[in-house]
Amino acid sequence: MSGISNNLGSKVSNKASGEAAGARPVYDAVVIGGGLHGLSAALHIARGGGRVVVVEKHWVGRHASGATAAGVRTLNRDRRELDLSLEAMDMWHAMESLVGDDCGFHANGQICVAESPAALEKLQGRVNGLRADGYTHEEIIDTDELRRLLPDLSHHCVGASIARRDGAADPHRALRAFRRSALQAGVELIEHCGVTAIERQGQDWRVVGEGGRAWIAPAVVNAAGAWSARIAALVGDDIPLATKSSMMMVSERLRPFIKPVVAIMGRSLSFKQSDQGTLVIGGGLQGIPDLDKETSTARMKVLAKGAHAATDLFPSVSNIRIVRVWAGLEAKTEDLLPVVGPSPNAPGVFHAFGFSGHGFELVPVVGATLADFVLRGGTRRPIQNLTAERLMAPGTPGAAPAAKPPVDPTVF
Ligand SMILES: Cc1cc2nc3c(=O)[nH]c(=O)nc-3n(C[C@H](O)[C@H](O)[C@H](O)COP(=O)(O)OP(=O)(O)OC[C@H]3O[C@@H](n4cnc5c(N)ncnc54)[C@H](O)[C@@H]3O)c2cc1C
Repeated sequence: MSGISNNLGSKVSNKASGEAAGARPVYDAVVIGGGLHGLSAALHIARGGGRVVVVEKHWVGRHASGATAAGVRTLNRDRRELDLSLEAMDMWHAMESLVGDDCGFHANGQICVAESPAALEKLQGRVNGLRADGYTHEEIIDTDELRRLLPDLSHHCVGASIARRDGAADPHRALRAFRRSALQAGVELIEHCGVTAIERQGQDWRVVGEGGRAWIAPAVVNAAGAWSARIAALVGDDIPLATKSSMMMVSERLRPFIKPVVAIMGRSLSFKQSDQGTLVIGGGLQGIPDLDKETSTARMKVLAKGAHAATDLFPSVSNIRIVRVWAGLEAKTEDLLPVVGPSPNAPGVFHAFGFSGHGFELVPVVGATLADFVLRGGTRRPIQNLTAERLMAPGTPGAAPAAKPPVDPTVF
């Protein structure tokens, strides 16, 4: 296979490996983390014939995957992850065939509104650049179409970009569907057991959990979300990660008045209405993360900014009640792109983390990519920009020498 390969050189292993003591079930992969990415990886590996155990410190969906806004977005994606994101979008449109449920996905589009001619010019520039490279998923729409799609939108908005196949899903339905499908495919799920060590044992890895439980397999998937750098460090990968504490607020139920998900060029806002009629408002508003305590504290002053942006766009929601706010923890990389692929230092270990606030959409395709590595020893999927090496400080084992490209300001 061409594309990116690892030095595991594996198909599914036949060698005796499994839980360290006792009856010795055999595994081809140990997945660390029972969020959506861990479940998706496990599902794809199991469907491909691999024997998989997922080890989760708390319970499925305890962190980012249970806190997510569940926007399914290609709009304004960084070009370096766009091809992967477009494949994921196709998978979302066929989600029922993957997990037996559409996960509440509605493809009502995502729209990025411009509040000024200068903002619209930036969006136009991005769409022109995409067109020049053959991408057609984003378009510019004028004020007439904008009013047709968003009748309650404030009249100061001058246009927008749109990705019509985008939309949003129901995160809890997604979690239930991925969990159920993984179990049906034969995945073993261990909850309430944090991984504390990973040791080399011959050609295999011995993954040790709290209480001394251990699992042995030739492949390990690190999908530990905000704590992934700590798991990576256990196998010698020093990957700098920051932590996001993205906040959300939810309103009382309102009459249905908006179908697409709405963002604003240059401001933090993601605004949508759920099937139940509640408004779900977020868009990168940051609370206070604490990785050791595993808490994320909401900051009301910052949420007020989000509420301000929402009422600037939709004056009709100025006097509604907010009934709930929350914040969730997730890893953030320096260039806001995830790490997906082999460990530079530990053969057979694969990373999937650092989704920096936009990993929900990538769930089906990243799981399939990890299964490529575990089952077939490499992937043809476009993850060449998502290596761990790019983030590692020069001189640390496994680091890449290349200079880091700047962050695109139209990307959120
Ligand atoms: C508020 C919020 C809104 C978001 N909105 C969107 C959006 O609209 N669209 C979008 O695309 N993305 C969005 N995201 C991002 C998206 O939700 C995440 O990228 C995605 O859920 C990450 O999934 P994950 O499985 O990698 O991480 P997680 O769901 O965090 O799972 C990681 C798991 O690893 C476990 N773990 C940690 N350490 C260990 C250990 N030592 N041993 C065993 N288990 C361990 C944790 O308990 C956790 O359950 C949002 C995120 C947040 C927080």
